[in-house]
Amino acid sequence: MNEFLPFVKPYIDEAAISSVVETLRSGWITSGPKVLEFERQLSEYFGGRPVRTFNSGTCTMEIALRIAGIGAGDEVITTPISWVATANVILEVGATPVFADIDPVTRNIDLDKMEAAITPRTRAIIPVYLAGLPVDMDRLYAIARRHNLRVVEDAAQAIGSLWQGRRIGSFGDFVSFSFQANKNLTTSEGGCLVLNNAEEARLAEKYRLQGVTRSGFDGIEVDVLGGKFNMTDIAAAIGLGQLPQLPAITARRHALARHYFATFGADFERQSGVQLPLKNFENSNWHMFQIVLPQGVVRAGFMEKMKAHNIGCGVHYPPIHLFQLYRERGFKQGMFPVAESVGQRIVTLPLFPQMAEADVERVVAAVCAVLQ
Ligand SMILES: *Cc1c(COP(=O)(O)O)cnc(C)c1O
Repeated sequence: MNEFLPFVKPYIDEAAISSVVETLRSGWITSGPKVLEFERQLSEYFGGRPVRTFNSGTCTMEIALRIAGIGAGDEVITTPISWVATANVILEVGATPVFADIDPVTRNIDLDKMEAAITPRTRAIIPVYLAGLPVDMDRLYAIARRHNLRVVEDAAQAIGSLWQGRRIGSFGDFVSFSFQANKNLTTSEGGCLVLNNAEEARLAEKYRLQGVTRSGFDGIEVDVLGGKFNMTDIAAAIGLGQLPQLPAITARRHALARHYFATFGADFERQSGVQLPLKNFENSNWHMFQIVLPQGVVRAGFMEKMKAHNIGCGVHYPPIHLFQLYRERGFKQGMFPVAESVGQRIVTLPLFPQMAEADVERVVAAVCAVLQ
């Protein structure tokens, strides 16, 4: 029997390990020189835009909303198919989450439905780039400009993704990335926010650490309510070890995704009723390879049988609006039919850089056997 193949495995190499060891020995383990260096390199990576790091991707979005002054009485539009963090941050700042249904092909927010959901109270939109596939960025920002809205891009899964050859994060409004363990670039836990200017970066620093500002040689002042969201030098050391390898990590993910398509074959969708992901090698960083099962196939049963083949699968994601917390706020089954249908049938297959081509073939063989 083959060894168990998980759907994801963090990519930690010797460079990252020795960098962490060096940090631990240095005596400086909280935010310090490594964080500053990581922010400097990230800023360079994102074309010179200001970047600040945090201890999660979630808090970067909350802080972006705070910097934009969004709160009670404001509406923020997002997708129902994301990690629940995307909508939770809207509630966290006291604003009202509004969902717009997804496009069944990209599985991202449908920009027409998003525009239709705009009201006089709408202040911001949070698009999510599921599996690393960006939305149509030209249309997104045209809509934002037309309606005078802030954009907080939930690019948690999209480091290394492109739009017309430009890196996601190197343009746009607020762009948030997560470095959680499963992401293409990880710091174990962490995240970063790409900002527009020095003033926003200064505010981000305040919200990151109890609202503290330095003044003079020995004084501090606190003028806004901030939290405790700073990244440690230990985490930054892992990120510094990974950042130079990101092009190779992304290339390996591309090669494995291409091998999935080749191994499934051109007729697979028609014969099986399964929907493969959009075959986009121009923009996506292939954070995940997700299939949508045919109507009538019970996902839990499918995953159970894959597990019997020693293959782990994931669910990313059940629709947010159907969680109890959101139902209590008036959301119901039937409101976003595409998201509900996809959310019930979507399955994440294994994809991580250390996988071999033979692993892909094993997964494809198991999918075919289970669906027989
Ligand atoms: C991972 C993820 C987040 C949250 O990031 P954390 O670092 O875990 O806080 C938010 N949105 C999406 C789409 C994600 O994949």
